[in-house]
Amino acid sequence: MLSKRARDVKPSPTLAIDAKAKALKAAGVDIVNFGVGEPDFDTPENVKDAAVRALREGFTKYTPAGGTDALKDAIAAKLKKDNGLEYSRDEIVVSCGAKHSLYNAAQALFGPGDEVIVPAPYWVSYPDQILLNDATPVIVKTSEADGFVLLPEAFEAAVTPRTKALILNSPSNPTGSAYDRKALERVADVACRRNVFVISDEIYEKLVYDGAEHASIASLSKEMRERTLVVNGLSKSHAMTGWRIGYAAGPKPVIKAMTDIQSQSTSNPNSIAQKAAVEALAGPQDSVAAMRTEFDARRRFLVDALNSLPGLSCRTPNGAFYAFPNCSRLYGKRAGDRKIAGSSDLAIYFLEEARVALVPGSAFGDGAFVRLSYATSMENVKKGVERIREALSRLA
Ligand SMILES: *Cc1c(COP(=O)(O)O)cnc(C)c1O
Repeated sequence: MLSKRARDVKPSPTLAIDAKAKALKAAGVDIVNFGVGEPDFDTPENVKDAAVRALREGFTKYTPAGGTDALKDAIAAKLKKDNGLEYSRDEIVVSCGAKHSLYNAAQALFGPGDEVIVPAPYWVSYPDQILLNDATPVIVKTSEADGFVLLPEAFEAAVTPRTKALILNSPSNPTGSAYDRKALERVADVACRRNVFVISDEIYEKLVYDGAEHASIASLSKEMRERTLVVNGLSKSHAMTGWRIGYAAGPKPVIKAMTDIQSQSTSNPNSIAQKAAVEALAGPQDSVAAMRTEFDARRRFLVDALNSLPGLSCRTPNGAFYAFPNCSRLYGKRAGDRKIAGSSDLAIYFLEEARVALVPGSAFGDGAFVRLSYATSMENVKKGVERIREALSRLA
C-alpha cells in the first residue's frame, strides 16, 4: 500500500533515542539525557511576550506562504549585521523550522540522477531528505585528525557531472566542529571551479567557542553568494525549537521554487511564532550570549571529563553543543554476556546499564564515535559522567 519513498524512509535516529529515553523517564527511571538536540533553556521572556501580544492583537490568520515582510526584513537585517550578506525580500523564505527549509530546498533542487555530497559525520536528516527526493547522497568521510573538516581534495574527488550540491554544516552537529575562514575558502574554491551549489546549514552559528568566529561561506565572494543557499533558524540560537521558525536566503529562482512548494504543502509558518521571531532577531540579544556562556562552561567540563575516562578520547569541539568522543578502543570488550561490538551496542549499554542516553555515531555515518549533547544542566552533566565512568569500569 505504501509508496517506495515511505517504505524507504527511516525515522530520525536521534528523535528515536530521545523517545526511548523519555519513555524510560516516564516509567520512573532516572535517566541522564545526553541524547537531546535542543537547548535546555526556556525561550527568552521578551520573545514570549511578543507572541502573547500577537495573540491578543488577533494576529492569528494566514500570512503570505513564504513569511511576513516584517520577519523577512528582520532576517535581512540579521544577515547583513552578522554575516555581511545583503538579501532582498524575494531572496528569503521563512519555513516551519530550518529542517523544513532544508527539505524544501531538496524538493526545489534535487531529482532522479542527481548526486548530493554530504560530508560525514553528518546530521541525520541530510541523507534521508536527499533520498526522499529521489537523488543520491554521496558521503565523503572527514577525519578526527583533520578536525572533521571537509578537505578540498576529498570534496573535489567526489564531484562528478551528476553532482548537484554540497551540504555544508558549520558549526557541525554531531562533531561540534566549526570551519575557520581558511577551511571555508578551500571548500568555496572547489565549489566555484567545479560548479557545485552549496547548501549551508548555519543553525549553530551563535554557538562558537575558544575565539572561533562564524563565517558564512556565502559571504566569501560574489560568486559564492550566487551559488549558496544559507539556511538558519531560531531553534538553537534562541531556544525556540518548538516554535518552528527557520529560514533560507539565496538566489531568487531557488527561493521562489521553495516558496511555491511551501504554498502547496504547509502554507505559512505559524503566524504567532513569526511575530515572536521578529522580536527574537531584532530585540535584545543578551540571552543568546548568556546561553552561550553556560554551554561553554559545560563543554569544557564535559570534554575534560570524557578524556579522563578509560577507552575514550574526545577532541575539543569549538561549536554547537555536542561532544563527539572516539570510543573505538572499547569495541570488542564485554560486560557479562553483553558484547560491545560498536557504537549502537555502546549506546544501548549506557542506556540500560548506566541510565545515560546518548546517540551512537553510526546514526551520523561514523560508528567510531558517540554523540553527547551538553544541552542539559551542569548537575546532569556531572552525574552522567560519573555513571559512564562506573559503567566503563564494568567493561573488560
Ligand atoms: C536542529 C538542527 C536543525 C533543525 O532545526 P529546526 O529549525 O528546529 O528545524 C537543522 N540542522 C541541524 C544541523 C540541526 O542540528
